[in-house]
Amino acid sequence: MHEFAITRSLLAEVVRAAKENNAHRVHRVKILIGEKSAVVPECVQFYFEQLKKGTVAEDARLDFKRIPLQIRCPKCGRQFSSLEEMCDCNAGGEIVGGDELLIEVIEIE
Ligand SMILES: [Zn+2]
Repeated sequence: MHEFAITRSLLAEVVRAAKENNAHRVHRVKILIGEKSAVVPECVQFYFEQLKKGTVAEDARLDFKRIPLQIRCPKCGRQFSSLEEMCDCNAGGEIVGGDELLIEVIEIE
């Protein structure tokens, strides 16, 4: 169900972007999925196929690209791709990438 809501807002964003650019067709939507985002691309794909019908994105194809996790140490500011690799500051870590889902490119006509 998680993916359904995500796909719905994703499509809304695509439709809005197409409208803003006076596009009448969307060819391709490229999506970045963070490694840790727990979003299953196959599910997004499935819902997208259902939801896109009758919209400007009806013929659009989805492309997914995985982006790795990035953790930043708030003390020294270095970034790491896993907790095991982290520095010895013991200041905790903040996730600065890899947990999101973003639209990278929308190809329109
Ligand atoms: Zn540090």
